[in-house]
Amino acid sequence: MADNNSLNALIEGLRRLPGVGVKSASRMAFHLLQHDRAGAQVLAQALQQASTQIRHCARCHTFTESEICQTCLDPSRDASKLCVVETPADQAAVERTSAYRGLYFVLMGKLSPLDGIGPNDIGLAKLFDRATSGLVQEVILATNFTAEGEATAHVIAEALKARGLKVTRLARGVPAGSELEYVDLGTIAHAMVDRR
Ligand SMILES: [Zn+2]
Repeated sequence: MADNNSLNALIEGLRRLPGVGVKSASRMAFHLLQHDRAGAQVLAQALQQASTQIRHCARCHTFTESEICQTCLDPSRDASKLCVVETPADQAAVERTSAYRGLYFVLMGKLSPLDGIGPNDIGLAKLFDRATSGLVQEVILATNFTAEGEATAHVIAEALKARGLKVTRLARGVPAGSELEYVDLGTIAHAMVDRR
């Protein structure tokens, strides 16, 4: 396989994706090369574009191509409410419900001591600064209902309550162990309205 360096590099590249082992990576590589060269070009360009253009919003940390994202810049948003989510996908899930018109803080992760992810890695100092800047009156914790999501919510809630802020959590009804991204819209909307 000495003349197959490009193929091996492609398979190794695909293996970086979560949940993709060497077998799936090989299947994807063969598919692109055998049946969809045009698709391979589109994918290559999209990866190049996204990996160089997308950064984190200076205010909420979500993905954006600007300094500040569209949501943070939207004057019709209720700046007295700040919803804390783990990922841009979770933020999108809350957005789709149309049950929330406040602003966001996207942790880009969750506390996970076993993986070495601590408060600094998810921007907690910045979140606390923002929450206590005077504009925010309620922080809504919409981290996932997994063990790590709950632990993260607990740490944030304790810290913010100690600073005198009103902190609410999405109501139960979102199944325990579930990730927001995969919960249906009605359930999230209901959990948002019923937050306590
Ligand atoms: Zn933003």
